[in-house]
Order: sequence, then C-alpha cells, then structure tokens
Amino acid sequence: MNDVALLADLHRRQERQGPGGDAETQLAITLAGLSRARSLRIADIGCGTGASTLVLARTLDADITAVDLLPEFLEDLRQRADGEGLGRRIVTHCASMNDLPFEPASLDAIWSEGAIYNIGFETGIQAWRRFLKPGGILAVSELTWLSNERPDELDEHWAKEYPEVATASAKLGVLEAHGYSPIGYFALSERCWMDNYYLPLREQLDAFLARHDNSDAVRAIVALERAEMSLYERFSAFVSYGYYVARKQ
Ligand code: SAH
Repeated sequence: MNDVALLADLHRRQERQGPGGDAETQLAITLAGLSRARSLRIADIGCGTGASTLVLARTLDADITAVDLLPEFLEDLRQRADGEGLGRRIVTHCASMNDLPFEPASLDAIWSEGAIYNIGFETGIQAWRRFLKPGGILAVSELTWLSNERPDELDEHWAKEYPEVATASAKLGVLEAHGYSPIGYFALSERCWMDNYYLPLREQLDAFLARHDNSDAVRAIVALERAEMSLYERFSAFVSYGYYVARKQ
C-alpha cells in the first residue's frame, strides 16, 4: 500500500477525518439562514466519510453533491447515508476540488469542513465562487490563529506546513477581497478536536500498526499523527479551525 492508501485505511474508520462537530455544522447552517423553507442544491467539498454531509441532509431539504478525492471515503459515506435513509438526496462524486463538476451559478451553498487547505483558502474561495448562485452561501472551516502572538514552536510548525494560517480578521478580509460578505465566524472548541477527532483516532493507532505489520511506512504515519496531536494538546489556546460563513455578493 502506498501512503495515500494507508492514510485512507486509517481515517476511513473514523466518523470524521478532521476536527468538527454536528452541533457546529448546525450552527453554521443557522448562521447561513438556511432552512427547509425552500429546496436547495448544495456541494460538500472534501466531504470525507460525510460528517457534515449527513448533518446537511438531515437538516435541510437539499440535493447534495459530496465530493472527495478518495473513493474509499465516498463508499463509506454512501453506506452511512443509505443506512440513515438519506441516500436518495446525496450524490457522491470522486474529483479534485480544483476540478469541480458544477455549472456556473448552480449552487445555493458550498460547504467544506477541514479540507480547503488542500488547495489553499484563497485559491479555493476564488475558484468556487463562480459555482454559487448570486447570494449563495459559502461555509468553510480553516486553520486559524486565535491570537496575534504564538509560541515559536507552533509558529514554525505551521509556517512550514500551512503558511496560509492567519487570524480570523485576516481570513474575513480575504473573503471580502474576493466578493463575499461575511455573515458569521466562530472557532471550533477543543471538544471538536479531541473528543470528536484525535481521541477516536488515537484509539485506532495500535490496530493500524498491527494490520500493516509495523512497517516503516506505517510507523512514520503514526509518528506524524502523534506529533500533530501533541502539538495541538500543548497549544490549543492559540490555534483552531475557524468556521467562516459568507454570502456571495
Ligand atoms: N470534511 C471531512 C473531511 C476532512 S479531511 C470531515 O470534516 O470529516 C480532508 C478531506 O479532503 C479528505 O477526505 C481528503 O480525501 C479530501 N481531499 C484532499 N485533497 C483533496 C482534493 N484535492 N480534492 C478533493 N478532496 C480532497
């Protein structure tokens, strides 16, 4: 197995593949002013196994296209959706987020939790804007500094891994610069990282190692996951995912 297949094998067993929470997705839906009052067309980009897709499908009268690069995740999403009787409202589509299959001005909302960093926040929000109808909603979560000053170790790590990390006010400015009106912002709580993401993942690591005979590649992946968790646990006061809800102008 190559590294991507190994990562898929580790993460597909999880309810979510990044920090988040059902209540937080609901809060973003509320901030966006979306309800069952009308039927909607929504895309969930970098959907993973569908944590946010399922909340959207349960809450709204919506036809949802769930897009991800990894077919394994989409298979699991399909099973979860069918298991809840929501399958009819969700189409899965295996594609890259920089090559999306939508018609211009065809979507009421674009959702993307913990995924836009794969192409970068600024590139992503620019590229996706044309798929939204006028007044359409963008709801994305993105790595965000919670304060202006940070410990060097944290700064240096993210400067290397994701230099686009910035404060919420800077991210809101990027949205405004690219034709969106911000409607709401909140930071994900520590519970979204630890209880919903890292702790369940940590419980899987020993079985993951055993399943792949403690190979060098698997041990390297586990070491990286543990280092990332430790960094978050030590510095959770300074960094989180910000959830940004904005309207296309
Ligand atoms: N939204 C999900 C998954 C977040 S993890 C959740 O919150 O649980 C990031 C997701 O982005 C993964 O599922 C990964 O497969 C997907 N991804 C990575 N690069 C991508 C790309 N270029 N295009 C589409 N999806 C991508």
